[in-house]
Amino acid sequence: MEPLSIAIIGCGPAGLAAALLLARQGHSVAIFDRFVSPGPVGSGLMIQPSGLAVLAELGLAGEVVRRGARVDALQGIEEHGRCVLDAPYAALGLPGAFGLGIHRASLFDVLFEAAERQPGVMIWADHAVAGSHCDAAGRRLVFEGREPSSPFDLVVDASGWRTHFDPAPKNILPFGALWASLTLAAGDPFAGNLLEQRYRRASQMAGVLPIGTRAGGGGPEVAFFWSLKAEDYPAWAATPLDAWKAEVLRLWPALEGLLARIETRDQLTFARYAHRTHPAPVGERMIAIGDAWHSASPQLGQGANMALLDAWSLARGLAEGRTLSEKLRLAAGWRSDHVWLYQWVTKLFTPLYQSDSRVLPALRDRVLAPLSRHWPAKGIQAQLMSGLFGFPFAPLGLAPPDYAGLSASLTNAAASGEPQS
Ligand SMILES: Cc1cc2nc3c(=O)[nH]c(=O)nc-3n(C[C@H](O)[C@H](O)[C@H](O)COP(=O)(O)OP(=O)(O)OC[C@H]3O[C@@H](n4cnc5c(N)ncnc54)[C@H](O)[C@@H]3O)c2cc1C
Repeated sequence: MEPLSIAIIGCGPAGLAAALLLARQGHSVAIFDRFVSPGPVGSGLMIQPSGLAVLAELGLAGEVVRRGARVDALQGIEEHGRCVLDAPYAALGLPGAFGLGIHRASLFDVLFEAAERQPGVMIWADHAVAGSHCDAAGRRLVFEGREPSSPFDLVVDASGWRTHFDPAPKNILPFGALWASLTLAAGDPFAGNLLEQRYRRASQMAGVLPIGTRAGGGGPEVAFFWSLKAEDYPAWAATPLDAWKAEVLRLWPALEGLLARIETRDQLTFARYAHRTHPAPVGERMIAIGDAWHSASPQLGQGANMALLDAWSLARGLAEGRTLSEKLRLAAGWRSDHVWLYQWVTKLFTPLYQSDSRVLPALRDRVLAPLSRHWPAKGIQAQLMSGLFGFPFAPLGLAPPDYAGLSASLTNAAASGEPQS
């Protein structure tokens, strides 16, 4: 394969994973990010078996697992105490499989440090990309307040859902969420290896996700989240913090100790989500990957994992196609069914958990929950959650990660798969 000069816009999971994979193929890679000093925004996320498979190929799964927290199941309980969501990874039928809760900063650090060490990768901070154009020499990036770049053979847009390169309206969802990373204390009443959620209909949702220990951090943390409509954010900001905490505690009294660790509003970040799919992820000398191609609510916990799969597919496409346009078409083509499927499933499922509807949560609790306890729904639910629904590995030549080997790196939970309180 002839080495290409490649620009990647964005140092998120998609951009960093793509940079590593492409540089290892011998390409010369420049990543541009608008941040002034490197770092991710936000709290925790879930690494699913789909994303872990790519991290394993990168040789980074052990380190990511060491910094994260094993999650054996997603468990949701409605306001009257009925369990309406019980999705164990064990139902996948993959021996030893688990999900991983991790602080964004930990995932970022592992990928960023690997990219810094990787020969062939240059990282440029403080370079906000405002556009690009093609000429006979290649595609150039246009920066805010700087001269345009020299030409590249290929530009990879990994700039997230606010990408400049998809002109369509962003379809921002009405519900977002407040997020905080909080240190666990001895005696906290949370299972150490579950993503736990509590619902009042679909209009209120609280969650606690174990996210492991940050490098140099002060012990294991959890991500706490509380769903909130964007239009209600100003009212929340004007409400005394204690009044809001009392409302949360009415839904989930066991959060008392954790909420006591939120002393100021600054500890909470309000995140918004957009549901959108770029209609044309491949252009002339250009491809969109990760959230720049497709973004959705994090209800199914897939975004970072889809981003990693896209990066893997791009590297494979570049290795296999004959012309650049064929390489890019292959890369996008191998991912398109899985992207389409998950965009639809997330669109259908999100209002069951985040909406003002009374009918949809009743359907969730009275019809879907009982159904999901039985074959084959239990296995399908586990596949959906794991990112493995629709068999994304087959076209990508990927295999599930070696869970037996990885479980040696786990720090939070034994390999039993039982909830650890
Ligand atoms: C609150 C929340 C919870 C989530 N939970 C989960 C979860 O549990 N599991 C999961 O898999 N996903 C989750 N997601 C989604 C996940 O975070 C995203 O899907 C994932 O980060 C996408 O990766 P990316 O690399 O495509 O984009 P991003 O992570 O958004 O990275 C984009 C990068 O591009 C840079 N950038 C943006 N614009 C420009 C520009 N013009 N010029 C230069 N640089 C630019 C940004 O600074 C950033 O570094 C969650 C998202 C949110 C908001």
